[in-house]
Amino acid sequence: MNNNMTSNSDMKNMDINALIEPFDIGDAPNVRTRFAPSPNGFLHQGHALSALLNRQFAHHHDGTFMLRIEDIDATRSRQEYCDSIINDLTWLGLVWDGAVIYQSSRIESYKAAFDALKAQDLLYPCFCSRSDIAAALVAKPVQHGPDGPHYPGTCRTLKNSAHRMENEAHAWRLDMSKIVQNLPLLTWHDMEHGEQIADASIFGDVVIWRKDAPASYHLAATCDDAADRISHVIRGMDLFAYSAVHRVLQHMLNLPSPHYWHHRLLTDPNGEKLSKSRDSFALMQKRKLGVLPKEILKFTQYNKISTRI
Ligand code: GLU
Repeated sequence: MNNNMTSNSDMKNMDINALIEPFDIGDAPNVRTRFAPSPNGFLHQGHALSALLNRQFAHHHDGTFMLRIEDIDATRSRQEYCDSIINDLTWLGLVWDGAVIYQSSRIESYKAAFDALKAQDLLYPCFCSRSDIAAALVAKPVQHGPDGPHYPGTCRTLKNSAHRMENEAHAWRLDMSKIVQNLPLLTWHDMEHGEQIADASIFGDVVIWRKDAPASYHLAATCDDAADRISHVIRGMDLFAYSAVHRVLQHMLNLPSPHYWHHRLLTDPNGEKLSKSRDSFALMQKRKLGVLPKEILKFTQYNKISTRI
């Protein structure tokens, strides 16, 4: 099993407060955390862990715990999943402070950030379909990053893009090599894993504005964490590498950088990461089967394996 993962049997009876108390956050004022699920499937027990850590961390420090529903991708978001997020968290007693925030209501703020990046000449339009990219990758091997092969750069130096933009759907990508040339050494801080160098170049030219949906996850999450004055981003290890991209965007957009805590992931009995595509692990199913919330929230062994690296 990957040592960033924790089997459910390991998680029985976890003392969440024992996990949170060792983090010395100094005299940081106004702790604000958020749980930020995407409504593209039902939440599972791993989401319950993430929401619980966010809520307990905020409450431990007399702070605020927010719920942000990342429903910006209309092609995958469904109302049924939004409703279930609210019902699952309420059932578990993981109630948030203030109103639920929906990313779909904030598109103008993402557009303003997009315009600011564009004005710095850091973006280029990309007309490639998935199959265009696959074909280009066959012809030209490229570096691989955490999300697979880098974008092969087909549209990076197009001469006729202004004309094509009038008639063709397109995304916008960060020109990562241009950005990296002018960056100071950027770091970000993970409470469990320590100080990290923000090397976003490992992802290549990431998409910032999508062809089929507005802002990318990277842009929207970075803007929202700043707008909501999130002090501590607490989320699963599966998103660890993305923090480098978010740190670079914070720098380019002149936004503050929160602290991070990427917590270990729950797995199924075979050591596989829990997935939204398997309903058997869905909180909604457990709720319907009459499982008690306290059974879901028993994660007591987590602190034993969550020693700092
Ligand atoms: N919306 C993301 C997800 O459901 C989480 C984003 C985040 O916590 O930054 O995986």
